Amino acid sequence: MSYDSVNPYTGELMKHFDEHSDEAMEDALSRADACFRSFGTVEARAEVLRKAAALMRERREDLARMITLEMGKLIRESRDEVELSASILDYYAEKAPKLLARRPLEESTVGEAWLELEPIGVLIGVEPWNYPFYQLVRFVGPNIAAGNTILMKHAPGVPQCAVAFEKVMQDAGAPDGAYINLFLSNDQVSRLIADPRIQGVALTGSERAGESLAAQAGKALKKSTMELGGNDAFIVMEDFDPRLAARMAAQGRMGNCGQVCVGSKRFIVVDKIADEFLAELMRLMAQYIPGNPMDESTTLGPLSSSLALDRLVEQLDIALRHGATLLMGGSRPAGPGAFLSPTILTDIDRSNPAYSQEFFGPVAMFFRAKDEDEAMKIANDSPFGLGGAICTSDPRRARRLASRLQSGMVFINYPALTAPELPFGGIKRSGYGRELSGLGIEEFVNKKMVCMV
Ligand code: NDP
Repeated sequence: MSYDSVNPYTGELMKHFDEHSDEAMEDALSRADACFRSFGTVEARAEVLRKAAALMRERREDLARMITLEMGKLIRESRDEVELSASILDYYAEKAPKLLARRPLEESTVGEAWLELEPIGVLIGVEPWNYPFYQLVRFVGPNIAAGNTILMKHAPGVPQCAVAFEKVMQDAGAPDGAYINLFLSNDQVSRLIADPRIQGVALTGSERAGESLAAQAGKALKKSTMELGGNDAFIVMEDFDPRLAARMAAQGRMGNCGQVCVGSKRFIVVDKIADEFLAELMRLMAQYIPGNPMDESTTLGPLSSSLALDRLVEQLDIALRHGATLLMGGSRPAGPGAFLSPTILTDIDRSNPAYSQEFFGPVAMFFRAKDEDEAMKIANDSPFGLGGAICTSDPRRARRLASRLQSGMVFINYPALTAPELPFGGIKRSGYGRELSGLGIEEFVNKKMVCMV
C-alpha cells in the first residue's frame, strides 16, 4: 500500500507518505478513546466545527489547489467543494444542539419516557478520493457534533488533502484524539474494526470495499454505514423540453469528470423526444475539451489516476464486445493526463455486463423507452439504488413517478445535487444508512430510552 500524491494531469509524483506503523495506530486509538471519555459539551464541539468551517474558507485557495493537483478536479469545482464542505460543518455546528436534544416519547402509556441521543465512541471512517474534503466532512460534521471521536483512513491518492484536513481540525481547537488521520493498510483497518474500543465504521467507496468492510463490521457486531456506487437513471418524459433535459443531463454526467456516485449515468428517454434529446446531448458533451484542470477555462479534467483510466477503458471495451454501440468518444486524447473523451453508449442489452455496471467517468448510457412504464422498468432494473432524476412538466406525474423509483434519493427536473440539509444515501447495492441532515447525526448515536414508571 502506498500513499502517493500523484498529479493525474502530469503524472508527477508530488509527495510520498509512509504508512503508519502498528504502534502509531495503537497510539492513535488510545488517544481517540481517551478523548471520547472527556469530549466537551455539544456547544464546545459545535464551536470546533464552526472554526473548522471558517478555516476551510480562509484556506480555500490552497485547499482547492491541493484537490486539483491530487485528483484532477477542475479548479472551480474544487473551490465549490471547499465551500460546500464548510457549509456542512456550519450546518452541524448550528443544528447539533437541537438535533441532539432530549426527545419526549409522548405516546408512552407506562410513564414519562424520553430518548437521549448519546455518542457511542471511537469510529473509523474509510473515504474515497473523488471529493477529498466533502467525503470527510459528511462523516466528521455530524459525528464530532454528536461527541464521537474519529480515526480516518482516507484514499491513498489524496494524502495531502488528508493531512490538510487533520490540520484544519487541529487548528480549529479539536482536542487531542478527536480526529486523527491515519495512513493504514486494509489489514490494519481490519484489526481496528475488530478492536473492542471501535464502535462503528463508515465507508464511502466501491461495492468491493463495501462487501469487505460490512462483513468485518458485522462479524464484530459493529454498526456500519455504506455509501457505495450508483447507476442513477435520468428519466425524460415526452412532456418535457428535450433540449433543457439534455443540458441538465450533460451537467449531471460531466461534473467532477463523471466521478460522482450520484451522477446521472443512465439516460432513459421516451421515444417521442429521444432523437432531439440525444442530438443535443451529443452536441453538449462534445464541448467538454480536455485541458489542465488548474486553468480556469478548462472544461474537462483528467480522471483521478492512470489506473482509473485503464479500468474505465477496459470496461468500455467489454461493453462494446458485448454489442453496445459507441455514439461518440471512447478514446484517450493525445497529450498528457489521464483523459477519456466524453463518451456515449447505446444498444446496451440486459445481457451486456455494462447494463448493470457503474461507469465512473465521462461515459453516458442512452436508452429509449416507448412510454412511462417502460422507462420506469428500465430505471428500476438495476442492482443499484442511490439517486435518480425525473424530468416532466406535470407535477402530479412527477410525484407519482418519484414514488415508483427504487432509490434513496429522487430529484425532479434537476440532476442530483447535495446540500447539508438533504439526506444522502441509497438502497440495494448502493449501500445503507444516511449521511447529512438530521438523519446523518442519528447513525452513530445510542438512542437511549428512559422511562420513569
Ligand atoms: P475503493 O472502494 O477501493 O476505495 C475507497 C476507499 O475504500 C479507499 O480509502 C480504499 O483504500 C478503501 N478500501 C477499499 N477496500 C478496503 C478494504 N478491504 N479495507 C479497508 N479499506 C478499503 O474505490 P476505488 O478508489 O478503487 O474506486 C473504484 C470504484 O469505486 C469506482 O470506479 C467507483 O465505481 C467506486 N467509487 C465510488 C465512490 C462513491 O462516491 N460512492 C467513490 C469512489 C469510488 P485502499 O485503496 O487503500 O484500499
